[in-house]
Amino acid sequence: MKGPVQHGFKRGSKDLGCPTANLPDEAIEPHQDVLQTGVHYGYARVLLGEDAGSADEVLPMVMSIGWNPYYKNEKRTAEVHILHAFDSDFYGKELRIVMLGYIRPEYNYTSLESLINDIETDKLVTLRSLDRPTYEAFKKDPFFQ
Ligand code: ADP
Ligand code: MG
Repeated sequence: MKGPVQHGFKRGSKDLGCPTANLPDEAIEPHQDVLQTGVHYGYARVLLGEDAGSADEVLPMVMSIGWNPYYKNEKRTAEVHILHAFDSDFYGKELRIVMLGYIRPEYNYTSLESLINDIETDKLVTLRSLDRPTYEAFKKDPFFQ
């Protein structure tokens, strides 16, 4: 999937140490039938330009496909957290992602602590999963060039 990064609803994901870049609806729409709701991992690249250094490379990402209460739960949104410390926000920049695997379904949480713990687990699962040598080829896929 690819598209310019959209503004979301600022539900405090940055405060949780997990900002999520939102893909536009048009990026998700063609895949609605096959997309599974929940948390996935894969690779992402934000097209920032040469002088962005490592921030412009293909990077690990963890992403949530979820029903959006703001659209009466009739639409799903794709939110991508990239495992990289960016110097600044990149709204409007083109984001490209490949989804490589599924981690878990969406859960409801009874405490903020358990939510934060799960996000940390998702990041670890992402990094460990992407260690599989067969995924290396996706980093070099022409889609990212
Ligand atoms: P919004 O509700 O607008 O999506 P967030 O709090 O989720 O707000 O922050 C998302 C924004 O943060 C992204 O659109 C992007 O510009 C920026 N950002 C900075 N670092 C990251 C990162 N590591 N992964 C994803 N987005 C990031
Ligand atoms: Mg977000």
